[in-house]
Amino acid sequence: MKAKDLVYLNGEFYPRSEARISVEDRAFVFGDGVYEVLRAINGRLFATRFHNDRLRRSLDGIQISLEESDSPERFAEIGAELLRENDLMQGEATVYMQVSRGVAPRLHNFPSPPVPPTVYISVTRFKPYTDLAQTGTSAISHPDLRWGRCDLKTLNLLPNVLAAQKAKERGAYEAMLIRDGVVTEGAKTNFFGVVDGSLRTHPCDNHILPGITRSVLRGLADDLDISLEETPIKVSELSRVTELFVTGTTADVMPIVELDDRPVGNGKPGELTRRLQKVLGESLASGSA
Ligand code: PLP
Repeated sequence: MKAKDLVYLNGEFYPRSEARISVEDRAFVFGDGVYEVLRAINGRLFATRFHNDRLRRSLDGIQISLEESDSPERFAEIGAELLRENDLMQGEATVYMQVSRGVAPRLHNFPSPPVPPTVYISVTRFKPYTDLAQTGTSAISHPDLRWGRCDLKTLNLLPNVLAAQKAKERGAYEAMLIRDGVVTEGAKTNFFGVVDGSLRTHPCDNHILPGITRSVLRGLADDLDISLEETPIKVSELSRVTELFVTGTTADVMPIVELDDRPVGNGKPGELTRRLQKVLGESLASGSA
């Protein structure tokens, strides 16, 4: 029997093909909303508290107020219910949550009086990139053309989409974004590198998304006494990078062994990358975050 394919939209569950939103939804006309993607392993959501906090911060950041009965915690419960309903309690899946400012005639300013936000939650079977994680993969560099609030997880992903497409056309897994001569992050991941023996990543400011995997990994690195410097890697330092990797909810710790068609270090996943990959894998498997 084929598994059900139910999604949640504004308080109701529907077969995915029957869920409907208005053409006047502000997500459709303006990309006016925020989202989260969580990992679920054997029916258990990973790092839910971190995702809930970030969703709340993104909502506050663009001034969307949830209805009284709604909250990120409630959305996580709905995600768990969808996993059960859709037979995704075994193996891996992702949970997608999106909140838009709601449905209103098309005017740039917020609807006045406010309208209820549109809440959409869905789950999808996920297959980890196990082979790529072993061999490592490639990235290209690309200008970071995004706005000044990359710390909010908004639906406005056009610069990310265009950079990701450029990477795909060049057979690469990720586009490494460059702003003012430094690496900010990837189109869909956070970026880490080892320069002169030090593990570095961009600090959490308005130019990067505070990745949940990044946060979890920072804690794990601490436990291993691996120091992580939050100092951006300059483009001028890239020739001295001996290891590179990206992190994300679906990327985990993904080694980058080739950048702009040139090998990184010895062209193989580095030792620090491997250690961090291993501990993140253990943390995901045990659900401890
Ligand atoms: N940076 C960007 C631009 C992203 O879109 C994402 C994830 O979608 C990340 C970083 C990684 O964040 P997380 O670890 O929370 O998935």
